[in-house]
Amino acid sequence: MIVNAKMGANSGVTTGGKLFLETVLKNVKKATELANIPTDIYEFLKLPKRVIVVSIPIRDRDGNVTNYIGYRVQHNNALGPYKGGIRYYPTVDLDEITALAMLMTYKCAALSLPFGGAKGGVACNPKSLSQEEIEKITRRYTYMISDLIGPYIDIPAPDIYTDARVMAWIMDTYSQLKGRQVPEVVTGKPVYLGGCEGREEATGFGVCITTREACRVCGIPLKGARIAIQGFGNVGTHTALHLANLGAKIVAVSDSKGSIYNKEGFNVEKLVAHKKNTGTVLGFPSAIQISEKELLQLDVDVLIPAAIEGVITKEVAEKIQAKIITEGANGPTTSEGSAVLQERGIFVVPDILANAGGVTASYFEWIQNLQREHWPRDKVLKMLEEKMVKAFNDVVETTRRMELGMRDAVMVLSVSRVALAVQTLGIWP
Ligand code: GLU
Repeated sequence: MIVNAKMGANSGVTTGGKLFLETVLKNVKKATELANIPTDIYEFLKLPKRVIVVSIPIRDRDGNVTNYIGYRVQHNNALGPYKGGIRYYPTVDLDEITALAMLMTYKCAALSLPFGGAKGGVACNPKSLSQEEIEKITRRYTYMISDLIGPYIDIPAPDIYTDARVMAWIMDTYSQLKGRQVPEVVTGKPVYLGGCEGREEATGFGVCITTREACRVCGIPLKGARIAIQGFGNVGTHTALHLANLGAKIVAVSDSKGSIYNKEGFNVEKLVAHKKNTGTVLGFPSAIQISEKELLQLDVDVLIPAAIEGVITKEVAEKIQAKIITEGANGPTTSEGSAVLQERGIFVVPDILANAGGVTASYFEWIQNLQREHWPRDKVLKMLEEKMVKAFNDVVETTRRMELGMRDAVMVLSVSRVALAVQTLGIWP
């Protein structure tokens, strides 16, 4: 592993994701206890099967070399090939990517997808990089992990600050190395390059569907429901568009530059156009600026954290006024935060259920690529909705049968599915 001094605080195997990893492991352990799963299985699942750390030296516009660090963590593949996104983010570290890889294992199991779990990341700040630099990073990273990914081995996808274009570069690099077109090695590609119709909006669509179901269970009419969304990237944007379509009022949103509020609700399409034109939600007409803290604590029906992990801490959880929280982001709630929410009776749609629309559409993309098929958007969204609603109902049924909160229930279901596969397969060699 080569670490260049230039990488500063974000270099190497740091421990910024330590708390996140601890939270995920605690949830898994609790699920094994609740489901009476032998401790051997927890022992097996507490570590990823394989960790890949690579250096990514890039010559920038000025001719200087910067050496980035890239990770791919393959947690478990008992139920199918490893599956999970790749994020480009300055604070990416091994613990964070490991935690996210574990969440992917249980997310795929929660939706009964024939996949295991993996995650990748490169510690870099795409906002300060040119397209050429991002392409170089992507291609070098793909080259470095190319022997350990593949359509039946490990299938990457987008995550924070990676998009369809980055997926196209991954596909092309892998295909060039193999000497043939292999679209099925990666999902989330542009539609005209083998991508799935609806994949880009799929995570947000799934967050919308699970929010709708949560409102039904809680007896809150979605029409007119007041919703605050933290994060206005891919997930937040599409969540807002779909929820507004169903008549909900999006009263607050935020991005990395700040948060805005309008108690009457935004015209979401205009807000999306404003963000596209100006690079931020700030400055949107008829909105007042509030702090992120205020956004999280607003008097709303539904709060949707759709940015990054660890934002709902104990202190934040104590002041949340929302009746429902739908976790669009991965790991937005800490262990302590989670305990407070449960104590206060706030209905939580946990991340591995709420944001599973993305990987479910990825599964549809993979099937289409393997069969060289192309399905229409309506079909994709219909199949996606059916899968999400079924998974949601299974979890609610488990909360009633076992008297658990939503997070414990989804973990019990998914950890049990993975544990059964691991137990049946045994340890070999
Ligand atoms: N990055 C997304 C997630 O966290 C999608 C993963 C995928 O499609 O494989 O679920």
